[in-house]
Amino acid sequence: MTSTDPGPSTAGVVVVGGGQAGYSVVSALRGAGYEGPVTLCADEPHLPYQRPPLSKKAHTEPDTLRVELVPESFYRDRDIALRLGDGVASLDTTARSVTTHAGVRLGYDHLVLATGARNRPLPVPGASLAGVHALRSLDDALTIGRALTTALDVVVVGGGFIGLELALVAQGLGARVTVVELADRLLSRAVSPQVETHLRERHESSGVRILTGTAVRAIEGTDRVRQVVTDRGTLLADLVVYGIGAVPRDELARDAGLAVGDGVIVDERLRSVTDPRVSAVGDCARHPHPHADGPVRLESVQNAADQGTLVGRRIAGAPGPYESLPWFWSDQGDVKLQIAGLRTGTDEVRVMPGGSPERLAAYAFRDERLVAVETLNWPAEHLAARRLLERRTRIGAADLAGTTLGALARAQRATEVRT
Ligand code: ADP
Repeated sequence: MTSTDPGPSTAGVVVVGGGQAGYSVVSALRGAGYEGPVTLCADEPHLPYQRPPLSKKAHTEPDTLRVELVPESFYRDRDIALRLGDGVASLDTTARSVTTHAGVRLGYDHLVLATGARNRPLPVPGASLAGVHALRSLDDALTIGRALTTALDVVVVGGGFIGLELALVAQGLGARVTVVELADRLLSRAVSPQVETHLRERHESSGVRILTGTAVRAIEGTDRVRQVVTDRGTLLADLVVYGIGAVPRDELARDAGLAVGDGVIVDERLRSVTDPRVSAVGDCARHPHPHADGPVRLESVQNAADQGTLVGRRIAGAPGPYESLPWFWSDQGDVKLQIAGLRTGTDEVRVMPGGSPERLAAYAFRDERLVAVETLNWPAEHLAARRLLERRTRIGAADLAGTTLGALARAQRATEVRT
């Protein structure tokens, strides 16, 4: 029997969740030669699709938008069973089976939870009025896209990645846009104050109004939204979009008795710490990470794709710990923000202008060591940062005096070629 031979009468692998992470698991299983049954269950009726375009393009190109990761034939050709529009309702780890909402019971040898995250609900009266939307799914994006064609006054609640991307999209479509952010600054989870300042100026110079340190008290209207009441005044609104963060969908694991705590708790190979036949990947997993100072739960395409691939390969017989460098990106209008590494716990930031007004890099250090790099409109520097951070090259502030990571990476490559 080879390591990829699933053995006699195998129940195979069941993957719960049809996003980037779930797709990456099934694709890697077959790519690595796994021959047992593979089933992907997703509650949405769509083929697995990419989410990043939803806050960037779905509203300007709703008719031509193609977001599915691969066509249906990909799954058919690889004998991957798709159960779309029928999510998993319960998990029994003793019987090694899941039961779908439609009542179908599926046995497994390995279960992979790729259930993602759901939007944190907006905790104010009126949040369920017509004209108030959150963005997560393709259907949400199309609904918001339709609403944006007629909206005049848009209030975006939450100045994170999603809120700010949408604010510029709405403003570009001709609406008056106000962003209401509870914290004292935008993107506080994601970027350094120096990069925030640049992005804020970019938004304000395009006409987006930004209110930081402002709390929404209520959303008001009769049959649909008419205004948003904040602690600093009332804003007229015919469309409200909120993006105030996400919570992991870990209840299936919790109800089955697996360890959870803001995500399914997994080890460095992404196996549940309670039951090694269950793995969790993507937004729903909390995992140890060599690039972080403690267990993390990451919401990013890179993390979903790399974790899904790692678990698919591991089940197919090629184990290894999860060590990928985290990286992120966001399109803020014509400004491309890219982040390499994790900035949690950093204690110093140095900014380097990139030679043109909207190009810069911010280097963030933890204990005098470079751990994260944010760039605006500077993809080459981002790629150099990824290369150097992935290799754990030790870089201090002094190493960056008068030079760029691009130059350091080139020098490192030249040394490698010589040795
Ligand atoms: P998302 O992926 O939804 O964009 P982020 O965590 O990147 O999530 O950003 C969410 C933003 O929403 C943060 O800047 C956070 O401070 C802000 N926020 C959280 N709760 C509220 C609230 N009640 N009103 C306004 N902003 C909020």
